[in-house]
Amino acid sequence: MGWASGDQVFAPVARKLVELGASAEVKRQVCSVLINALQDRGWDTEGESLGEFQDDPAIVAAFRERGVVATCGDQGGPPEADWCALEEGHEPDHADDLGHTWPRGPR
Ligand SMILES: [Zn+2]
Repeated sequence: MGWASGDQVFAPVARKLVELGASAEVKRQVCSVLINALQDRGWDTEGESLGEFQDDPAIVAAFRERGVVATCGDQGGPPEADWCALEEGHEPDHADDLGHTWPRGPR
């Protein structure tokens, strides 16, 4: 079960906050409340909206508060490892949901 329409509610509101020049605090708090309300209604494509607002630290913070983060996704781990499930820009090692870790940087 999923509900993708949350994006159609979230995006216009978030865009308007940005357009109006809302402070980081206002954006974070309003978006956090909105994300929570949409999640209660089954919103499960938050990652797509997060992607659209990835450049806005306050909105990214609101998503993080509600458990939605952009994941690193690195696939350079050991063969038995899944992709890295940590937040983008994490330090120091990559880690998947299965408990594997591998170093960052060129291999
Ligand atoms: Zn990683």
